[in-house]
Amino acid sequence: MAAPMLNERDIEFMLYEFFDTEGLIQRDRYQDHDRQTFNEVLKTAKGIAENEFLPLRQKLDEHQPTFDGKTVSTIPELKPALAVLTDSGLPSATADYELSGMQLPPIVSSIASSYLTIAGGNSIGYSLLTNANANLLEAHGSKALIEKWVPPMRSGRFSGTMAMTEPDSGSSLGDLSTKAVKDEQGQYRLTGSKIFISGGDHNLSENIVHLVLARVQGAPKGVKGISLFIVPKFHVDENGVVGDSNEVALSGLFHKMGGRGQTSTALSFGEKEGAVGYLVGEENCGIKYMFHMMNEARIMVATGASSLALAGFQYSLDYAKERPQGRLPSAKDPLSPMVNIIEHADVRRMLLAQKAYAEGAFSLTLYGTQLADDERTAITEAERAHAKTLLDFMTPMIKTWPSEYGPKANDLAIQVLGGHGYINEHPVELFYRDNRLNPIHEGTTAIQSLDLLARKVPMNKLAGYQAMLAEIEKTISSAKELSELAPYCNELTQALNELKSTTTFMLTAMQTQHIDKVLANSVAYLSMFGHVVIAWLWLKQGAVAAHALAEQPHQEDKAFYLGKLQTVKYFYRVELPQIYNWSTLLTNLDTSSYDMQADWF
Ligand SMILES: Cc1cc2nc3c(=O)[nH]c(=O)nc-3n(C[C@H](O)[C@H](O)[C@H](O)COP(=O)(O)OP(=O)(O)OC[C@H]3O[C@@H](n4cnc5c(N)ncnc54)[C@H](O)[C@@H]3O)c2cc1C
Repeated sequence: MAAPMLNERDIEFMLYEFFDTEGLIQRDRYQDHDRQTFNEVLKTAKGIAENEFLPLRQKLDEHQPTFDGKTVSTIPELKPALAVLTDSGLPSATADYELSGMQLPPIVSSIASSYLTIAGGNSIGYSLLTNANANLLEAHGSKALIEKWVPPMRSGRFSGTMAMTEPDSGSSLGDLSTKAVKDEQGQYRLTGSKIFISGGDHNLSENIVHLVLARVQGAPKGVKGISLFIVPKFHVDENGVVGDSNEVALSGLFHKMGGRGQTSTALSFGEKEGAVGYLVGEENCGIKYMFHMMNEARIMVATGASSLALAGFQYSLDYAKERPQGRLPSAKDPLSPMVNIIEHADVRRMLLAQKAYAEGAFSLTLYGTQLADDERTAITEAERAHAKTLLDFMTPMIKTWPSEYGPKANDLAIQVLGGHGYINEHPVELFYRDNRLNPIHEGTTAIQSLDLLARKVPMNKLAGYQAMLAEIEKTISSAKELSELAPYCNELTQALNELKSTTTFMLTAMQTQHIDKVLANSVAYLSMFGHVVIAWLWLKQGAVAAHALAEQPHQEDKAFYLGKLQTVKYFYRVELPQIYNWSTLLTNLDTSSYDMQADWF
């Protein structure tokens, strides 16, 4: 079968019909670009994905990185493929011209990374993490730190990591115990252990720049006492020359279910005198700086999750159109020809669910990407502030909904292929394994749901929450004009009312009842809100499609838009009603899980 990539028609729809990417050219930052340059960038990304990474996909999966006691090695073909990617400028495409970037709108670069993720899995992560590390330093590092560490990362000489997690401190970052102590020369020396550090060791670059969270001796407990340090694998002198080891030792290399293109390491810092660390910004402000990278990484995780969902959907759709098997219940003659499996309504059910999840998740991810851009580059101060309010509020959902429903889509892709989906001749089982990480890292689903309900909803006197509801209401009132969408507008209004009353109930309960009990079903709240948001985005997609259909497009486009409208119907009939079950659990303060005792299992 042909290699699955993204549906080009849907990319065009997202960029130029659903989002106004061409309109971004009005902003000073993007004035050198136009639709043609955006399309050229995507063509380049697709070319690199197909030519450099796709041929490595299976080999990367079958040959996990190895350690011979001295060096961590990946398959030899990976380094030149990453070099082609770095040389293309794509990994730092959104950076300023002065920082060797292309000042490309993030929405375009996000879609470019979708192609690369589908082809290269998380081997692309070496490059994405390195550039996210450089972005953090550019935002919060001193001039001296930026000059020393950022250019070699942008050029691919050095790579970067994000080192937060410890063996005893995963979700609970505030409990981390890596220590930083000032030596007699006034230099910070770090000691401690980190685990699961992606790209923590390998043979792909001259040096590795770890961004490490640690607690300076005497700092307060909890997240308020955490600082951020650059800890390089090797020392680097004032001329940028790489020297001796900086006491960053590999203490373990993890073998994983998926995501095997990137190393996952346990690292030990400072086994002798302490690894030298360079403080970023001020002491005890590390979490604030790290959030710069984490928020970017959360949208990146969502982009990866929805890209893999789209790829699985595309692959299983192509398969279903070509695989003959069985007959319809109405065909009684055993000699009649078999039909392709797409003729079976249940296969179409699984394809529709995938389309609803994958394209819904994709639109949410791009929405988050655009908000992050608007926060920085929208023309008026009011627009920038509005985008910030929405993004701060939405981040837990932007990260989580695609991460939860992306693997569900991939699970259905396997089912569409039947037994063939379970074997590694087809990539759908790999997409699933790769995607299964996404609800775990960058804040698990449970952690995101607690953040949403206990922090983000009440934050700033409900400002983010209300701003989001207002966006949904705005879409409903304009979509009502379209007769084919009017019933969905009513259903979304009803769902929104349910969400509002559930939220009011939860906010009161958080003040009046035992907080552990109230938050016991926080995941149900995130699921409910997430489904309302995806229903909103599908209504918006439906409105674009309905307008386009009114213009009497040619046959192929007509089918594309009718497919969008049918998916709106699917989401409203099959998915949206689930919110009433979640709201019942929440407003009854259901204690099924809360009351269960460890020794009753
Ligand atoms: C492949 C991979 C790559 C990674 N890359 C990096 C990286 O580059 N850098 C980095 O720093 N880390 C990285 N991580 C670590 C990742 O972020 C953590 O695994 C994640 O934060 C969860 O921490 P944990 O594994 O210790 O699980 P735990 O925190 O022990 O969680 C276990 C379970 O308990 C639940 N739980 C925990 N606390 C609560 C709570 N308060 N309320 C409700 N439920 C709770 C969780 O939701 C989860 O279901 C990576 C992990 C993996 C597997």
